[in-house]
Amino acid sequence: MIPVTKPYLPSRERLDHYLDGIYEREWLTNNGQLVQELTRRLEEYLGVENLLLVANGTLALQIAYRALGVSDAQPDRRPQAITTPFTFVATASSLKWDGVEPLFADIDPHTWCLDPRNVEAAITPDTRAIVPVHVFGNACDVGAIDTIARKHNLKVIYDASHAFGVKYQGDSLLRHGDAATLSFHATKLFHTGEGGAIVFKRKGDLERAKKMINFGITGPETIEELGINAKMNEFQAAMGLCVLDEMEENLKARAEVWHRYEQALATTLQLQAQPEALDYNYAYFPVVFESEEQALRVATTLKENGVLARRYFYPSLESVACLGINGGQPISKDIASRILCLPIFDQLAQREQNNIINLIETELVA
Ligand SMILES: *Cc1c(COP(=O)(O)O)cnc(C)c1O
Repeated sequence: MIPVTKPYLPSRERLDHYLDGIYEREWLTNNGQLVQELTRRLEEYLGVENLLLVANGTLALQIAYRALGVSDAQPDRRPQAITTPFTFVATASSLKWDGVEPLFADIDPHTWCLDPRNVEAAITPDTRAIVPVHVFGNACDVGAIDTIARKHNLKVIYDASHAFGVKYQGDSLLRHGDAATLSFHATKLFHTGEGGAIVFKRKGDLERAKKMINFGITGPETIEELGINAKMNEFQAAMGLCVLDEMEENLKARAEVWHRYEQALATTLQLQAQPEALDYNYAYFPVVFESEEQALRVATTLKENGVLARRYFYPSLESVACLGINGGQPISKDIASRILCLPIFDQLAQREQNNIINLIETELVA
């Protein structure tokens, strides 16, 4: 089976070198040398400051909500955050899990990111934050979202899980918002097996979050505030350093795959509209079909031929009961019903990709 993505496995020799160091130091977690090294390397690579490594991308979101005071309890009111239904479930479930009611606003039909006009319309007196997603690595309308947030005194936490290395208007996309979070899950472009990071705008928020990821402990006998365990360990960091070392070749191979799909499919299928000023990371190749029926037919044909395209992101989250009472996001519902993500990873052979393209084209004229 050709999967939709394959975890990037760096050279064993390279990994062994880092593992030898872990065995020598006998230091496995709690802000070890490799975690510190990866923090510095990522800040440099991404062009950001105030980066904090954590155990996974979901905890990255939750620590960001806490550090920015979004989920602070109030006696008789329930905080709310406005977010998109067109995303991986963790964006919304992390809010709910932390006692924040996710309020969905609909997406833009072309970029598939939150439409700022719908965000403003959804604000209530209990709204504390906006949690937009740079979905598939595309840039949200960061200017408009920033204006709304200032006007209504809201925090902005971007779920940038897909946006590793993406630049917008010549600068890291991660520099927008009070915080931007990354997931380093095995299936993501850059990964540490499991892992994640938060990029804070302000150093003070970073310092608060640092305490929170280690139980609020600040010294051998001091516990300064409420915390949890969200630390990244040395083995995760070792994997991350290796993947980062080989990032250039990985990106180059993915870019080739991405451009071959684009060349073949851009005239017949709807692709995600990206702003001019976007410097993309080639993490995903989503396509939207004419109808749900056509999308499902293509998915079935691909599967029968050993290719696994995935319905990312389906279902649209306003229809998921455990996330709360929502609804009325017809654009997200529509795009979610007609979308498929096609296989994209560095090892995808040109012959295999041509076969995928042929199967889709044959199905489209059928
Ligand atoms: C992967 C992902 C997450 C969750 O990250 P984990 O590292 O798996 O916890 C959150 N949001 C989005 C949009 C994701 O794609």
